[in-house]
Amino acid sequence: MRGKSLRETVREMRTCHRVGRQLQDYLDHELDAAAVVAVERHLETCVTCGMEVATYSRIKSALREAATERPVTVHDEEALSRLREFADRLARSEGAE
Ligand SMILES: [Zn+2]
Repeated sequence: MRGKSLRETVREMRTCHRVGRQLQDYLDHELDAAAVVAVERHLETCVTCGMEVATYSRIKSALREAATERPVTVHDEEALSRLREFADRLARSEGAE
């Protein structure tokens, strides 16, 4: 197995460094189209940055969930029961088939 050339490795590390600084903006959809393409191209080949993206997005969705967590109001209860009815209807029509 042939190892990567030093120059290749250095270039990759530089890209990682650059992409690493852009990951947060990338996940916040604050990058311009060209930067998004560059980040995504790098993510396709780089496991390290791919794992960072996975970690970041997990943290972000956890934060989002925590932020939206609030006491259930009457309005939510109504919406919830409507949803349940809808799900019940779906389940019934599926069973009828
Ligand atoms: Zn990388």
